[in-house]
Amino acid sequence: MYCAVGVPALTRRARTRNISDSRLKRLYLQLNKEWFGNKLPDDLVIRWARLDKKTQAEATSPKLIRIDAALRKWPRTLKFAIIHEMAHIELWHVVEDHHGDTWQRRMLQLAKAGAFRYLW
Ligand SMILES: [Zn+2]
Repeated sequence: MYCAVGVPALTRRARTRNISDSRLKRLYLQLNKEWFGNKLPDDLVIRWARLDKKTQAEATSPKLIRIDAALRKWPRTLKFAIIHEMAHIELWHVVEDHHGDTWQRRMLQLAKAGAFRYLW
């Protein structure tokens, strides 16, 4: 999986009929409760987009997650990608190297807690 963090939004919004933006938001809120102790912002915007071919998801600010529309057909990958981005959001003001040691430790902690069970 490739994820872009802090890259300015240059792509247009995707049109999708399968999973709505509001369903994405419900999934985000559920994952926030399950794995992040509801500490991530409730008012974060999460929405579909058509991203660069190498990018499945991206957090472009601490209040915005964009998911490539291709993932609407891959619910487990979608969930994995959202948790991945949520870990970036959680550490937004902590880490400079977005996929560095602090973030890696947090992902391992989530994995050990079961956040990725049945997703890999
Ligand atoms: Zn990432």
